[in-house]
Amino acid sequence: MAIIEVSELKKSFGDLEVLKQITFDVQKNDVVAIIGPSGSGKSTMLRSLVHLEEINGGSVRISGDYLVKDGVYPKTQEIKQVTSRMGMVFQHFELFPHLTVKENLELAPKMTKREPTDAIRRRSAELLEKVGLSDKANVYPSKLSGGQKQRVAIARALMMNPEILLFDEPTSALDPELTGEVLAVMKDLAEEHMTMIVVTHEMGFAQEVANRVIFMDKGEIVESGNPVEVLTNPQHERTKAFLNRNL
Ligand code: ADP
Ligand code: MG
Repeated sequence: MAIIEVSELKKSFGDLEVLKQITFDVQKNDVVAIIGPSGSGKSTMLRSLVHLEEINGGSVRISGDYLVKDGVYPKTQEIKQVTSRMGMVFQHFELFPHLTVKENLELAPKMTKREPTDAIRRRSAELLEKVGLSDKANVYPSKLSGGQKQRVAIARALMMNPEILLFDEPTSALDPELTGEVLAVMKDLAEEHMTMIVVTHEMGFAQEVANRVIFMDKGEIVESGNPVEVLTNPQHERTKAFLNRNL
């Protein structure tokens, strides 16, 4: 079953056409790695899925419901209903510096006022344990390493019980020795069958954890398929050139 259906998505910033008729599906429980050169539109594509960018044409459906249909957005309430099914993790963590780790996790669920505070507290404790940071619940983000910050960001994204997690280069801002702990958490999530789209330069992770790789260049999907095939036997010259630079 397709949980994300993107068809003919177009996005420009002024005269700059950043996404040119992008079409792809993500199946439930898929882990999709998106690779491609800087400036190819990977972040804009992810941001469009959660309505951090408004697209100029095409459609996006999440679990069957339109986020945008033929370039037309529904009412704010409907947009929120659709985007609330997704959580996003950013390259630079985007934690709230003035809130403790626990407060970072609990802020969004408390603001939505949909469940009792003790249920929220229980979940934040569980999720901090899941990412190995129970002992950091009451510290501020400035006291954490980059790898710890990113694990907090992942736990925070999970607080809203998303159906889909989006990652935009989650390890690119980390020192090499800290990437492993973040990738390990992501691998655990994949093993629990979380549906994930991961923009990444970690080809090892893409090959080991993803079940599909999409290669983007200049606002287009050039090639996609099984990770081993795309990464070891690419069919397109642009993919070959990119991989030769990155492997
Ligand atoms: P990637 O994530 O693959 O590096 P991006 O999606 O960030 O690519 O950017 C694609 C192109 O869109 C780049 O040329 C970038 O400069 C441009 N771009 C991204 N965001 C904006 C913006 N808010 N305003 C203008 N141009 C932008
Ligand atoms: Mg980017």
